[in-house]
Amino acid sequence: MDYNQMLDNLYVKLPPKKTTGERFEPPVASILMQGNKTLITNFDVICQKIRRKPEELSKFLFKELATRGNVAPGRLTLDTKVPPRVLNEKLTYYLDQCVLCRECGKPDTHIVYAAPVNTLVCEACGATRPIRL
Ligand SMILES: [Zn+2]
Repeated sequence: MDYNQMLDNLYVKLPPKKTTGERFEPPVASILMQGNKTLITNFDVICQKIRRKPEELSKFLFKELATRGNVAPGRLTLDTKVPPRVLNEKLTYYLDQCVLCRECGKPDTHIVYAAPVNTLVCEACGATRPIRL
């Protein structure tokens, strides 16, 4: 068997690709630096994608980045310079903590706010878990 035949055989043995078309792509922030401020110019898109209110996500970011800012339609302004890498890391952290279901991995969740612990409820599989943020 020559090399090409080996490759052909290998290819045939691979399982067919799953095309669920539902794979969740984590949003990436479009970031603009303006003087001492950092703008997320696709903030509304991010919020829609992860199904959180702009207030929920901005509150988290202000706290995590120890800064203030404001939400305007479509964008978030942070009153400090935040490197894009750091900002996207915070987003990933938020997704992991407050959006993605640990059971089924789907982002179809919402938060039930209640003292003393908030709960993440998965609409896809019904799983719940407490969240700290
Ligand atoms: Zn789930």
